Formats: sequence, structure tokens, C-alpha cells
Amino acid sequence: MDGIWDAIVVGGGHNGLVAAAYLAKAGRRVLVVERRPIVGGACITEEVFPGVKFSRLAYSAGLLRPEIIRDLELTRFGYEAHLFDPQFFLPFPNGDSLLLWNDAERNEKELARFSRKDAAAYPKYVAFWTEVMELIEATVLEPPPPLPDLLGLFKGPEAEELARRILLQSAADLLDEFFESEEVKAMLATATTIGLPAGPRTPGTALMLGHMLLHEINGVKQTFGYARGGMGGIAQAVAAAAVHHGAKIRTSTEVRAIRTRRGHVTDVELADGTREMAPVVLANVDVKTTFEKLVEPDAIDPTFLAQVHRIRASGVVTKVNCLLTELPDFTCRPGKTVQPHHQGYLDICPSIDYLERGWDDAKWGNPSKEPFLDCVLHSVTDPSLAPPGKFTLSIYSQYSPYRLREGTWDDRKDEVADTILETLTAYAPNLRHAVERRDVISPLDMEREWGLPGGCIYQTDMTPDQLFSFRPVPGWSGYRTPIGGLYLCGSSSHPGGGVTGAPGRNAAIAVLEDLRQRKPGSS
Ligand SMILES: Cc1cc2nc3c(=O)[nH]c(=O)nc-3n(C[C@H](O)[C@H](O)[C@H](O)COP(=O)(O)OP(=O)(O)OC[C@H]3O[C@@H](n4cnc5c(N)ncnc54)[C@H](O)[C@@H]3O)c2cc1C
Repeated sequence: MDGIWDAIVVGGGHNGLVAAAYLAKAGRRVLVVERRPIVGGACITEEVFPGVKFSRLAYSAGLLRPEIIRDLELTRFGYEAHLFDPQFFLPFPNGDSLLLWNDAERNEKELARFSRKDAAAYPKYVAFWTEVMELIEATVLEPPPPLPDLLGLFKGPEAEELARRILLQSAADLLDEFFESEEVKAMLATATTIGLPAGPRTPGTALMLGHMLLHEINGVKQTFGYARGGMGGIAQAVAAAAVHHGAKIRTSTEVRAIRTRRGHVTDVELADGTREMAPVVLANVDVKTTFEKLVEPDAIDPTFLAQVHRIRASGVVTKVNCLLTELPDFTCRPGKTVQPHHQGYLDICPSIDYLERGWDDAKWGNPSKEPFLDCVLHSVTDPSLAPPGKFTLSIYSQYSPYRLREGTWDDRKDEVADTILETLTAYAPNLRHAVERRDVISPLDMEREWGLPGGCIYQTDMTPDQLFSFRPVPGWSGYRTPIGGLYLCGSSSHPGGGVTGAPGRNAAIAVLEDLRQRKPGSS
């Protein structure tokens, strides 16, 4: 059936926008339909208090694929990213602290304060992951290879050993093989459990240590940074590129159903009852919402639907965005004027055991008594985000299990935010009076407001059994679905979550391939 649209994208998250931009650039008539008043999904900047703009969910840049930045000419549309320098700052309870810079010599000196052996091991550790991630990076902009082919990427006599280490080991075990200092291991472990229902001693978490190395800012590999205007700056640039190529974007418009006829998608039904026809629909909403809520159950192959029901989506994060009247004054590095440690990640994670204890609480349904915190003071590097003399503080905190053993998130989120702020205040006592306002977002809020199932920050869990050719379900990792013309383009598809743009781009390529062969959606 032909409507005025060649394709409709359900959801204006950054991946939906990337998909729309690629399709529109290829000359297709595309409509993006977004439920919220602004596009971007989890990649947004919002003015929560007058004159104060927060990256309310995602908070650090570096994963967006350089190929996409180039293809869509995003810098022309306002995309601008800058390196954090230093990259990491970790204060420790004994009054010491650690800074990791973008400079190998400086890092060697800094790490040697904790262990000379670790300072020497660090370049070897980076080289180890660089080699692995070069192989994995090549799979990011392709439908994922089946597991045997993926393992086949690791060649040579040590291939088996390498696969064992990165796919089966825990992050803690791998770090123990390279390092001896608790502080150095803690700094590197921070990345490993981001967004995961797992602790650093959970088998299979080693792979996420490498995920960190997929970051790249302005051609500098393995670095994190910030986007001008907050994370919404990225989504806005992609939206501008899509519109430039002719895509239409409708916000504050919810899709109520994706309709099908004889196994092929026909149209989407909006919340006001109107219908938009197209032979191709790309779901930027997650796979569970798509098949459990938007497509009629009778239209879906029951085996596939059962696979979708089994996909896990486990929220473990609370986000607290604060307006500060002064910068955090750390006992270990005193001062309320801007200093290097205010300009990158600021992490509360004194040891691997600390992180694991946080997970111990959460796996029984309790918010961590001593949470892991990953903070960024965005307005220090981008003053446009806060009024003069005030500062934004973004706190990402784990673990906050979506399913609580006691109470509800609506009742408990302020208590959890208090624990989070007390945890940070133990290192920077002036925060006791410096927090003027706060915006607390629980896993339940993430589900209700952003549609993330179970509050899962990646739409669905990024555990090894739900990655590569297992994402979203085995047999269907190529963006196509059992319904003709219906594609998945969000982060519940390969390569998963993070502001990479890759699922959006890869899905658009699959659609264009099928359209060229005049068979939208065939597998
Ligand atoms: C708290 C948090 C912190 C994070 N931190 C980082 C970080 O620092 N760096 C990083 O790279 N990544 C981070 N991530 C992950 C990253 O933000 C996401 O993986 C990514 O933004 C997902 O993009 P997406 O386009 O696939 O999906 P989404 O952003 O989930 O977009 C889906 C869109 O669909 C819309 N929608 C839902 N239902 C409907 C409907 N019925 N009709 C119409 N529209 C609908 C939603 O409103 C949303 O806009 C974080 C995520 C969270 C939640």
C-alpha cells in the first residue's frame, strides 16, 4: 500500500533521527513521530528550572560513530564535541585522589603514585583492549556476525585464551591479571557495570571494560567528552540534518499501534485515532514495546513473541541533576574555583569491593547503601547551561533496582537521592548547602516518561547473552523482523545502547537494500 510516506519512524530518539536522516538523504519520504515534546529520547538537554539546562539522562559524548558524523555532515548542523581533560577524577576515603589525563607520560607518573607495576602495566592493558576493540569496532556498523564467526575474528594461537578472557571473565578477574592497586582497578572498573544488572565480579562483565575504548572525540580514540549544548546538542544536530534532507518530524504525537495486513506493515495509528500509511515502519522504540504493545499479538509469530517476552530489561540507575550555588570543594583537592578535577568525570568508586557491595544490595531489591556515582559538572565547560555564578551537576548513580523489595519508587526516590547526595558530600562537604534545586529521575520515571522498559537505560540489558547476534533475539539481529516492512532501529538492536547512532544507521541501510530489491522487510 502506498501512502505519502515511504517510511515512518516510531520514536524520535537519536537512533530514529539517524535512520530518518539516512533514508531522507537517499531521497525517501520520511515521517518521524515522537511522543515527547522534544526529540532525542535519552539523549536530550532540557530546561528543567528557568535558565538551567541539564543533559537529563545521557551525560557524556564519545560513542557517536565518526562515519555518521561525516555522512550526515553533523558539524554543519551544530554538532560540536570536546574532550574531558582530565578524563577521570576519583577521590578516595583516605584523602588521596587519582586523575587520569589525555597524556601518557602524565598518567604514568600519576599511576606510579599508587603502584609502579601498575603504571608499567597500563599501556599494556590499553594495547590489549585496542587490539580487541579494533576487531569488534569493525562489527559495529554491520549486522552482527553469528557467534562462531565472531569468535573466528580472534586468530592465532592465543585466540581461545583471548575469547575466554573477554567474553567469559568478570571485569574484576581481568583487572586482577593486569593490576595490583585497588585505586587503579577501581578507576578502570567504573565503566564496566554502567547500566548493567551486574557487579564487577559477575562473569561476562570484562567485555564492558573494552566498551569504554570505543569512545572517540574528534579523532582522539578512547576518550570521553561533552557535547556543546549538552547531549541534546547531538540529537538536535541529527534532527537538523534529517529535516535538511526532507524528513518531517512530528513531536507530542504518540503512536498507539503499528497495523499490519497479511504479515506486512500497513500504517501506524496515532493516539488521536488518525492513521499514517507507509509500506515501511522503523521502530525506534524498543523491541519489547514494539511487539508487546504496538503490534497486535495475532499478527506476530508466537515463537518470536515468546523470544521477545524473554528479553530482559532491568533498570539499575537513578539520575540526580542538581543546580549548585558553588562548585564542589573536595577535601582532597580544596577550592571552589574551577580546577582540572571539575572538568571531566568525577567518580565515587573507591574499590571494586565497594562496587560489588552496591550490587549485592541491589540484587535483593534494595538501593545501594553506598552507591557508585559518575558525575559531570557540565556548565563548567559549557557556561551556556547555567546562570552566571551557578553550576549544573549531573549525577548518574547505581544501583537503583527497578523492582524494589520494599515500597515504590514514587515513595522512595527522594530518600535514594538523599543517600546519593550524602555519598558525594562525604568527599565535598560544601555540597550540604550548595545544592539549590534537584531533579530526581528514578528507573520508574525512565519507563513512564521515556518509555524505557523496566527503566533499562539501554532499552534492553547489554549482557553477553543479549549482545551481537543475540540482540534483540537470536535469528533476528539484522534489523528486520518477522513482519514484512517492519524494522527495528533503536538501541535494543545491535550494537546496543549508548549514543552511537549505529542501530539507526544500520537499520536504514537494511531498509534501503530491501527497497532497492523491492522487498521491504523480507528476512
Ligand atoms: C540515565 C541514562 C544515562 C545514560 N548515559 C549515557 C551516556 O552518558 N553516554 C551515552 O552514550 N549513552 C548513555 N545512555 C544510553 C543512551 O542514552 C541510549 O542508549 C540512547 O540514547 C538510546 O537511543 P535510541 O534512539 O535507541 O532510543 P531512545 O532514546 O530510547 O528513543 C526512543 C524514543 O521513542 C519515543 N517513544 C516511545 N514510545 C513512543 C510511542 N508510542 N510513540 C512515539 N514515540 C515513542 C521515546 O519518547 C523516545 O524519544 C544513558 C541512558 C540513560 C537512560
